[in-house]
Amino acid sequence: MSPSQARNAIKRALKELLDPRLSKLEQASIWAHFQNQCAFCGAPIEKANRNGHLDHLVPESRGGRNALVNRVLGCHTGNGDEKLDADWREFLETKEQSQIVRAERVERIESWVQSHGGSLTLDAKARALLSSEFEKVNAVFTTACGDIKRAI
Ligand SMILES: [Zn+2]
Repeated sequence: MSPSQARNAIKRALKELLDPRLSKLEQASIWAHFQNQCAFCGAPIEKANRNGHLDHLVPESRGGRNALVNRVLGCHTGNGDEKLDADWREFLETKEQSQIVRAERVERIESWVQSHGGSLTLDAKARALLSSEFEKVNAVFTTACGDIKRAI
């Protein structure tokens, strides 16, 4: 593992304390709510085919949480290639011509969000805490990397 990979791993480990990964039971509840269909384009998804993804409504890069409230079932095509950092409502607009079908999909996502409550994103206080704690670890780690490089 390179130093930069280690920094990313430390960042993720600290974040997980405030924003845990989904349990197996939570993951199963997402599959059930979205009835094995992509929340955005409606494509059928089979767990066995590994073509499904527990997508973030608000991407992690924009502070989106890992919690159920921010997660929906998406197909690999949609998540990997297209959605990325797009707003989920705008993304959904592009995936379906029929206004009626679009409204049903929005409703299914909104009912999911409402039934779980809470914020889709980490609040500013949590982000600030993560950032300041990471900086402490990073300073020590950077010093250690430098000391080792100078010693060899
Ligand atoms: Zn899709």
